[in-house]
Amino acid sequence: MSVFSMRDFANHEQVVFCSDDKSGLKAIIAVHNSSLGPALGGCRMWPYASEEEAVRDVLRLSRGMTYKSAMANLKLGGGKSVIIGNPRTQKSPELLQAFARAIENLNGRYIAAEDSGTSVADMKYMAQFTSHVAGIVDKPTDGGVRSGDPSPATAYGVFVGIKAAVKDKLGRDTLDGLRVAVQGVGHVGYDLAAQLKQAGASLWVTDIDTELLERARQELGATVVEPDAIFGLDVDVFAPCALGAVLNDQTIPQLKARVVAGASNNQLAEARHGVELMKRGILYAPDYVINAGGIIDVYHERVGFDRVALIKHIDQIHDNLMEIFARARKEERPTGEVADAIAEERFTR
Ligand code: NAD
Repeated sequence: MSVFSMRDFANHEQVVFCSDDKSGLKAIIAVHNSSLGPALGGCRMWPYASEEEAVRDVLRLSRGMTYKSAMANLKLGGGKSVIIGNPRTQKSPELLQAFARAIENLNGRYIAAEDSGTSVADMKYMAQFTSHVAGIVDKPTDGGVRSGDPSPATAYGVFVGIKAAVKDKLGRDTLDGLRVAVQGVGHVGYDLAAQLKQAGASLWVTDIDTELLERARQELGATVVEPDAIFGLDVDVFAPCALGAVLNDQTIPQLKARVVAGASNNQLAEARHGVELMKRGILYAPDYVINAGGIIDVYHERVGFDRVALIKHIDQIHDNLMEIFARARKEERPTGEVADAIAEERFTR
């Protein structure tokens, strides 16, 4: 395996392989680009089938963080880390400690946050051994305090983004009476659905977790549908908040929604699916632009948390999307491609 020649290497500044015999740690930290600031990105723990798969994943994800942070006007670069192993059976305090020390050795070039397979509690534990972890500070909310979990901020950003997309595509200033299909009512999806309900939208939801569905039905008056039925509903907006690659050859032909705007990462199975959506007149809000609320939240935690400043910053997602939509229309290009071009202009400036 040659890391340098991998397609996803894409000019990474630094890729560090870390191991610790005693705890069984095998991890990779990737710093894609630090021209705007230290590389911040989640730490994923996953039982990768091979080292090559882990390398590919960390490279792809860290590059994505460079684009996301640049687009969100953050003084952050892009990075990511992966720990190879099963988080249920192989995660131990010793392993997290060894990994935290590896992060500390990078002197702040990489800052870790929670991701699949790691939690806020893991980050808090690691913070005893390195100062370069984020997403660990409790924050004031309207009615109390919330943990470092960035999901509420992500959900608010997606809500702001849906308003932008609805204005651009449907010419509507309000969400009152809007029909929205939400795929996945987990941390982000449920919060988003609650905000949409509050704004007067009608909701259709799906999930594979029946308890979450029942909560959405009872508390939000949402209509529950089977997972496969969510794509073809006669709605205005489809909001993917569950999995990646949900916009593909099978699902796109089913879509009746004129807008796709949701929290999931990597929604397009392949870049060509962005072209397909454009051809069908469906406005796609690029995933990393609309779901940036979480990283904005984590950034504000590091620079001194101020709730008003945070909300103002997340509200910029609206303007970012409007800029992308206008330019995509003018240049007759898919929105995802235009988003990449704008992000590149920002981090190579
Ligand atoms: P989550 O795990 O809390 O919620 C995801 C939900 O999707 C779960 O309830 C799960 O049961 C459901 N689901 C899984 N497979 C499904 C299927 N086939 N059909 C329907 N539902 C299914 O995760 P989350 O934190 O809410 O994140 C949702 C998405 O947003 C993920 O793709 C995540 O990467 C992305 N994202 C999250 C954040 C954040 O701050 N949490 C930030 C950026 C992006």
